[in-house]
Amino acid sequence: MIQNIIVLGSTGSIGTQTLDVCRRLGIRVKAISGNHNEKLLEQQCREFKPDICWVGEEKYGALKTALADTDVKVVTSDDALDSLAYEQEADLLLNALMGIRGLKPTLAAIESGKRIALANKETLVAGGDIVMKKAAEKGVRILPVDSEHSAVFQCLQGGKKPKKILLTASGGPFYGKKREELRNITPTDALRHPNWSMGAKITIDSSTLMNKGLELIEAVHLFGVRPEQIEVIIHRESIIHSMVEYPDNAVIAQLGLPDMRLCIQYAITYPERVESPVGSIDFGSLRGLTFAKPDEETFSLLPLAREAIKKGGNLPAAVNGANEAAVTLFLAGKIKYLDIFDLVEAAASASAFQKEPTVRDILDTDAAAREFVYGRT
Ligand code: MG
Repeated sequence: MIQNIIVLGSTGSIGTQTLDVCRRLGIRVKAISGNHNEKLLEQQCREFKPDICWVGEEKYGALKTALADTDVKVVTSDDALDSLAYEQEADLLLNALMGIRGLKPTLAAIESGKRIALANKETLVAGGDIVMKKAAEKGVRILPVDSEHSAVFQCLQGGKKPKKILLTASGGPFYGKKREELRNITPTDALRHPNWSMGAKITIDSSTLMNKGLELIEAVHLFGVRPEQIEVIIHRESIIHSMVEYPDNAVIAQLGLPDMRLCIQYAITYPERVESPVGSIDFGSLRGLTFAKPDEETFSLLPLAREAIKKGGNLPAAVNGANEAAVTLFLAGKIKYLDIFDLVEAAASASAFQKEPTVRDILDTDAAAREFVYGRT
């Protein structure tokens, strides 16, 4: 099992749960990073005593002063985050950053040969070809933290290539609704997820099913399958976290209560399994497990994501960038819920296609897609 870890995005939902796992397993936290929440960062620094802590520029002065009586080195700037990921020695880097910002630190950590636990799906959505190629070159293992991908990864233990991956989706808070009924959805409505407690961006993505679209792209990269081999299936109870079907049509599923600490812990202890604070499923009191096909006409970002990864190149980066911008605008009350769908679709059609983008091209594509979305409002 690993001895020490770097946690990027330590103040977010996955980040704090990761530190909870580290606390219980006695794993040394070598570095952490957070953007805005300097109070929580200070608390985390005092408890875990990392060598280094990265913070967003706005909070740099305040945090540095607050930690003046400690040995924690406080740094800021994008370059400092990349060099932290590269230079700081650790067995594992867990990336729980939000959005495309996670791409460069992930690449830096792979370059230095660190094992990666990836909770930042946008990294693979936008730069999956480059990230997976670099990981193969460096012999670096990328362990999924996302519950569905952790489930698929667990179902593939001891198995060969799957014939099919069945990605489960809760369907989010608007399951069963038609487009017309989504017209007046507010951020508060969309932030009410039935099963999972998560950050704001991913909760909105879950409500639009874009989250499942991003996960489909992530799965293509992580498991080396074609988009056609992935089926999204609505499973309202969030007990089965995903399944794989083998060539003989045998299906293996991974089940558990919906609690991210299980997936986080498995990425940290892999290939071992140790006790966790997550409860057991009480099968006797489960009323049943239900399944349905997703409504791709209403939740059109799911098929859009599938088409984007089929075409490949920089298109997934454009879709992802446009979506990040649209969700930001929606949460700020600047656009309507249905505008998210329209803006992402329009930005994807407007994006200039590149078959084999570099990291620079991907970041440029992302910026152009955001500008397109912001320009429409
Ligand atoms: Mg997920």
